Amino acid sequence: MSLKFPIYMDSHATTRMDQRVFAAMTPYFTEIFGNAASRNHAFGWQAEEAVEKSRKQIADLIGADAKEIVFTSGATESNNLALKGVAQMYAEKGNHIITAATEHKAILDTCKRLEKDGFRVTYLPVQTDGLIDLQQLRDAITDKTILISIMYANNEIGVVQPVQEIAKIAKEKGILFHSDAVQAAGKIPINVQKDGIDIMSITGHKMYGPKGVGALYVRRRNPRVRLAEQMQGGGHERGMRSGTLNVPGIVGLGEACELCHKEMAEEGRRLAFLRDKLKDKLFAELDEVYINGNMQHRLPHNLNVSFAYVEGESLLMGINDVAVSSGSACTSATLEPSYVLKALGAGDDLAHSSIRFGLGRFTTEEEVDYVAAKVIDVVKKLRELSPLYEMFKEGVDLSKVQWTAH
Ligand SMILES: *Cc1c(COP(=O)(O)O)cnc(C)c1O
Repeated sequence: MSLKFPIYMDSHATTRMDQRVFAAMTPYFTEIFGNAASRNHAFGWQAEEAVEKSRKQIADLIGADAKEIVFTSGATESNNLALKGVAQMYAEKGNHIITAATEHKAILDTCKRLEKDGFRVTYLPVQTDGLIDLQQLRDAITDKTILISIMYANNEIGVVQPVQEIAKIAKEKGILFHSDAVQAAGKIPINVQKDGIDIMSITGHKMYGPKGVGALYVRRRNPRVRLAEQMQGGGHERGMRSGTLNVPGIVGLGEACELCHKEMAEEGRRLAFLRDKLKDKLFAELDEVYINGNMQHRLPHNLNVSFAYVEGESLLMGINDVAVSSGSACTSATLEPSYVLKALGAGDDLAHSSIRFGLGRFTTEEEVDYVAAKVIDVVKKLRELSPLYEMFKEGVDLSKVQWTAH
């Protein structure tokens, strides 16, 4: 098989929809078009039936009951509903929320909003491997803490947090535990019962499903979680999220979950093998390469690497037939390096020269071989032009060099 360009290796940003998901969705655009809330005719019943099937498919993937699934427009909305919903519903109990510095913006920006509304938020730092320190979590808890929100797996470095331990601590103190599981769901086994999660966000487009549809798991027993609705009108989804349901999207999300459930073990093994092959090739051919994030507690399809003595933008330009993300926020005007890598303690240089490789269901071994060779070639070429790399090779201690401006 010949390679098709550009090669997609940015699965943490979004994934290509699986053809089987698309096929399942198709009839629900034109033929089975009913409103799932229409109670008095067959069009409505058919739509409702499809929605309930999806609820069950999602629940089965995460060890939940179908009644505990609330449909949303994606994980940004799920996270907003979880955090604001708990904050407003439990405000009498306390006003303190604990989260981590490496969370997705959909959590961090929601927390900032809540701070403006009078809530207090603790942003836990992470260790150099990206994991939170459980003792720091314990120490941060006060009698005003109502919610701990820690992501299952990180979208930049793929690091998987000790969710079960976090849940135990939360449970001991009677605090609700929310997890943004967007990157983990469908990729590694999740069971909300075993894991002790009370509220959990997922989204379709990170698991080979459609964009613009997601779900929030909301525990119904032990404890029964209540959320203040963020959208009024109609009282859909047990009053937690009003609005006519996106039936084709919901069918797609359900199908995506079922496929992930069936194929996760096999797919995880295949992707871990390819990811490790990519890593091993880079490390065999290049020096001064650094892995960002813990390698054991990590998603099988993620690799995040910094290439010292290489300028991130030049590296990206050099491999412009490969779609990856970099720790350089080149999309923003500011060129601020990734806040996640900075939270790990990476210097600006290493954060800027990092690349996130996100492998996925449609990644082939041939693609991995090509990407490895290409990155190695470009890094070597860029370093040939780098006076800093030359000095490093000559044994100059760059940290002791006195730089003077002329
Ligand atoms: C992509 C992502 C989100 C946002 O999901 P949308 O469905 O795109 O709104 C939230 N959290 C994490 C960890 C993500 O990777």
